[in-house]
Amino acid sequence: MGERSTVLVIGTGFSGLCTAIRLKQEGVEDFVILERAADVGGTWRDNNYPGCACDVQSHLYSFSFEKNPDWSRQFATQPEIWAYLRGCAEKYNILPHVRFNANVVNARFDEASATWVVRTEDGREFKSQLLVSGAGASAIEFVPQIASKVATLDYFQRTPPWAMPKPDWVRTAIREVKPDGVVTTDGKTRKADVWQGQGGPEAYLGLAVSGFPNLFFLMGPNTGLGHSSMVYMIESQVNYVIDAVRTMKAQGLAVVDVRPEVQAQFVKKTQKRLAATVWGSGCKSWYINESGKNTTLWPGFTFRYRAATNRFTPGDYVLKAK
Ligand SMILES: Cc1cc2nc3c(=O)[nH]c(=O)nc-3n(C[C@H](O)[C@H](O)[C@H](O)COP(=O)(O)OP(=O)(O)OC[C@H]3O[C@@H](n4cnc5c(N)ncnc54)[C@H](O)[C@@H]3O)c2cc1C
Repeated sequence: MGERSTVLVIGTGFSGLCTAIRLKQEGVEDFVILERAADVGGTWRDNNYPGCACDVQSHLYSFSFEKNPDWSRQFATQPEIWAYLRGCAEKYNILPHVRFNANVVNARFDEASATWVVRTEDGREFKSQLLVSGAGASAIEFVPQIASKVATLDYFQRTPPWAMPKPDWVRTAIREVKPDGVVTTDGKTRKADVWQGQGGPEAYLGLAVSGFPNLFFLMGPNTGLGHSSMVYMIESQVNYVIDAVRTMKAQGLAVVDVRPEVQAQFVKKTQKRLAATVWGSGCKSWYINESGKNTTLWPGFTFRYRAATNRFTPGDYVLKAK
């Protein structure tokens, strides 16, 4: 049968917690958060190497609605940031919504009921109208480059880009990619309708992928920064998701699916702007993928991204009423 909610969130890092807090502030209590670990904190829980700290000033690298005058240094260290996030989860009463040790391995959109059906590694099932992935930058690994009408996602994660590997991160690796799916090292074949192509992941505003209705990614493709706080970007994305929730409720919408041409136009414009930056000048960096495309960075000012995500625009989406 599975647990049902209006919104299902994956992850309890800055992204997942921000979504949860903002949902509560919006009066939405009917949400569940799935977290594969046994505690909240995301990257700041998983990284504890000596000297681990943020490289953006802490007053900027914290939630705008939860300022912390007590940062002990300008660039806080990992224990302090992790404690801040745990404190937020407690203060805003998020913990009752979290299902820990819930490693999401599959998400399928059931068109008939306009519901996401999400499975965890231990066989639990969760159903929800809206799915928000705050699974970290690794989420971009499974954002498909092409649209599909059959939305099913298997979560094959590489080692998270920022994280130091831990011994307990040994997972099923991919042995072979076939036209209709992937074979993992445990010998299982997993059918895949869509496989991320060579060009790399794409999403409208780094948030929505055509063919994957009612799904939003936080920290998706081309929303990364090399110069400022990701928390500012995450809050912008969550603003957009909250406005989508608001709009769907107000207009009685069951399904929102970004129009392919809107996504294509956004991607084209973003890539054009990136080509004019230092990252597009031919130098090599981990922002650029094997095919030479920058699928990582936002090409401009953070306030421009804030403006672009200020409102959910129904006209950009194919809509289905309830
Ligand atoms: C050492 C370090 C320093 C950094 N410094 C800065 C900085 O100074 N400024 C800056 O802007 N950014 C910095 N970053 C980037 C940082 O990743 C982001 O700022 C931000 O913390 C990302 O938050 P998130 O919630 O999106 O992702 P994460 O923190 O990665 O959280 C994702 C959560 O999802 C969970 N999850 C993942 N997959 C699944 C699954 N399949 N099922 C269930 N749960 C799942 C994970 O367990 C995790 O809790 C730094 C990162 C690191 C590692």
